[in-house]
Amino acid sequence: MNYFIDKIMEVVKNICFPIVCCKCGDFVDSEGLCPNCWKHIKWISDPKCKICGAPFEIDLDALCLACLKKRPHFDRAIAAFRYEDFSKDMILKFKHWDATYIAEKLSNWMYGACAKDMAGADIIIPVPIHFLKRLKRQYNQSELLAMGLQKLSGVAYEPRILKKIKHTDPQEGLSRNRRLKNVRGSLGVDEDYVSLIDGKSVILVDDVLTTGSTVNECSRILKKYNAAKVIVVTLARVDL
Ligand SMILES: [Zn+2]
Ligand SMILES: [Zn+2]
Repeated sequence: MNYFIDKIMEVVKNICFPIVCCKCGDFVDSEGLCPNCWKHIKWISDPKCKICGAPFEIDLDALCLACLKKRPHFDRAIAAFRYEDFSKDMILKFKHWDATYIAEKLSNWMYGACAKDMAGADIIIPVPIHFLKRLKRQYNQSELLAMGLQKLSGVAYEPRILKKIKHTDPQEGLSRNRRLKNVRGSLGVDEDYVSLIDGKSVILVDDVLTTGSTVNECSRILKKYNAAKVIVVTLARVDL
């Protein structure tokens, strides 16, 4: 009897609160992507650069040219999938159009990609946004992803250390040099909390890794305040 009641409740729930695909909005049985969208997302796996995580076409256990030329301040960067036409609108929907209900699913995918690297981590820090931007958007997408990772990993979450102290133009569409200039001097720390990262292994969370200038600047600051290690975890990364 209980079985039938459960089944009826499930049908009622699905009618009242249908579950839809994070990407295309089609009805699905469980939260996430429909099989068709799942197939089209370009998930990142080995081989890839040992530092920045840039995917390689051939089986190489090495560093990419960019990392060989200039080592980033972070120790490693990990992304769940590639940022391209297909995944772009799902991320933009999450970032700008209030689709915060998909945050949990997105952090699940991130955790799938970085669980091994999070094993020894001490603290999770989201990339900050300026308070005016936060006021306008009502949320910081990186904080939502970082909180999701905190729930899954049990690693402490600390959003108060890094601060965006200067409002900057959006990084989208800017060249690497302009991005670097744009981000320089725009980030700072809250001195009351920096002791929390002294000698600690930090997981730095952002939504998309493009040229890496923002996470690199965050990592530089975290290392300046004695973070022992910084691992960048993003949902997606752009192929440059
Ligand atoms: Zn779909
Ligand atoms: Zn690299």
